Amino acid sequence: MTTATKCSSDSVLTDGDVRNYINGNFVSTADTIDDFGPATGTVIARIPRSQQADVDNAVAAAKSAYPEWKATPVAVRAEYLHKICAAIQKEAAHLAELETLDCGKPISLTSQVEIPRAALNFKFFAEFATGDETQSHEMADAVNITQRAPVGVAALITPWNLPLYLLTWKVAPALLCGNTIVAKPSELTPLTANALAQIIHSVGLPAGVFNLVHGYGAECGGPLVGHEDVSLVSFTGGTATGKLVAATAAPQFKKLSLELGGKNAAIIFKDCENDDWDNMIATTVRSSFLNSGQVCLCCSRILVEESVYDRFVTDFVKGVEALRIGRPLDKDTTTGALSSRAHVEKVRSYIQLAKEEGGVILTGGVIPDLKEEFAEGFWLKPTVIAGLDPRTSRVATEEIFGPVVTIHTFKDAADAVDIHNSVKYGLAGTLWTSNLKQAHAVSRQMHTGMVWVNTWLHRDLRVPFGGVMASGVGREGGKHSLEFFSELKNICFKY
Ligand code: NAD
Repeated sequence: MTTATKCSSDSVLTDGDVRNYINGNFVSTADTIDDFGPATGTVIARIPRSQQADVDNAVAAAKSAYPEWKATPVAVRAEYLHKICAAIQKEAAHLAELETLDCGKPISLTSQVEIPRAALNFKFFAEFATGDETQSHEMADAVNITQRAPVGVAALITPWNLPLYLLTWKVAPALLCGNTIVAKPSELTPLTANALAQIIHSVGLPAGVFNLVHGYGAECGGPLVGHEDVSLVSFTGGTATGKLVAATAAPQFKKLSLELGGKNAAIIFKDCENDDWDNMIATTVRSSFLNSGQVCLCCSRILVEESVYDRFVTDFVKGVEALRIGRPLDKDTTTGALSSRAHVEKVRSYIQLAKEEGGVILTGGVIPDLKEEFAEGFWLKPTVIAGLDPRTSRVATEEIFGPVVTIHTFKDAADAVDIHNSVKYGLAGTLWTSNLKQAHAVSRQMHTGMVWVNTWLHRDLRVPFGGVMASGVGREGGKHSLEFFSELKNICFKY
């Protein structure tokens, strides 16, 4: 049913056929869910609507495969990761088209960033593996051997915004550490998770080590989180869902990682006017509207020092209006569609609320005038709003997760920090200044898990990734992922 270009004759992918992957078999369910292509608003696939019984089967398969996978040497597990990386790279062009079709996002983003990085996640963790599996500590009369043991059956639940990238970011370290997996991708963007199951099947990973169930959050994700044989839950999604996941997992003492929502800010000091202005403007346009603002690290609040506010607004709005919104498969499109009709309606309701709160729409706020082909699609123009109170306006303090930014002024560094820290979220922040002392002082006071100074989305896969407060609990990345997906076990040998 999908309309992505045909896979090559030696491809292992069969796009239209979306099924659960349980114990090495692709299986259907009686009921299905329609999967819509956001650009056209039409049904592009029908996917399984899994229930408790399907989850039970997947967890049983993962549980039964666990002892053998746990006993498999880490070097052998790493070899599987290398094979999965190579298979993703081989199918990269097609996977990029599939992701673009399913998410409505530009092909430049999927082909140049998301799919290559999904492959890299496997390579990175495969190469990161060796070194600290075992440590020893000598005593006068004994030696302690500290081993890194797997946790058990891992439930991996992912959102719709970067489907394959975020799934592989969990699957790779979970597999490497010796866990078996039941993954549950978003029902809105299931196609590349389905493709990943086909790729994993093609490289011969033992049956039951990786399982995939499609379905709605409440019917499929909920039973997975609550299953008594699941020992670990890695969840990326909204803060409200994160609360439900935590309420189920915590009393069962499951290992839990929550990567949740955000309301990230960019702070622009007047001294970046000196030499970095054009770069700052271009990066801030990107950090506001990459993937139509649907990246958890996007900045949805821009705080600008009073004396450069007018210049900033003029240059920023010019940059936003130069974005090319349109056919996602065109190479020069920068801005695609939003994930779903419901999401467009949610974002539009915030634009309406901004007007009620006294905001001024500087650009956007409306559905773009596109070709007939996209008339039923889920589109909205990049929108810039000024004039809202940064501390009390709902639009300026609640997560919208779409193509909307609000701009505010600040008087000095203390005021900037105070506004920055006035929301309940704390994922990432960005700071633009040429004053080194100011950069140190302000970045240390920003209440977030991550800060970028004079850059944005500059990612090193070894560094800790995660938020504070309503943005989540725990860290992913490099050794932090290995810590989460394993348990340290100490064995003391008496001489
Ligand atoms: P969501 O919370 O609606 O859904 C995320 C996943 O959870 C989906 O697979 C969904 O089916 C599942 N789910 C829903 N209800 C469930 C339940 N009761 N039990 C178990 N699983 C359930 O989020 P979304 O709308 O798909 O994604 C957008 C959100 O994700 C935004 O808030 C965004 O900020 C956040 N996000 C955070 C990060 C991060 O790293 N912090 C990264 C990407 C996205």
